[in-house]
Amino acid sequence: MIAHPELKGHPSLPLTCPTCGVIDQPRIVPGKGPHAHAAQCAHCACFLQWVSRYSAAERETRRQQARLQAMAQRAPSPLQLAYLVALGDDPGSPPVTMLEASKRIDSLILEPREV
Ligand SMILES: [Zn+2]
Repeated sequence: MIAHPELKGHPSLPLTCPTCGVIDQPRIVPGKGPHAHAAQCAHCACFLQWVSRYSAAERETRRQQARLQAMAQRAPSPLQLAYLVALGDDPGSPPVTMLEASKRIDSLILEPREV
């Protein structure tokens, strides 16, 4: 997926058309369903790829936010719990969520507890 060059001001790369073999800037057309835009070959009008309404940096930010939200809704994994014990975390007060376990692991790695 590429960012729409005119929507975000990002230069888009020329794409190779698998049908006619031309390497050129694609034509951006409205997308279908969840896709904001589509890139078409400017010569034969075949579909090349979907084009996001977001820039690459915005997509990465949204991906990380969704990842943190998902981790906040899940229980910690058995491997996280075992790793926390190995790092010296208190096994009497286990983390409630995967996100909390991840943050504890990060803090224990950065600031190891003295045994
Ligand atoms: Zn083509």
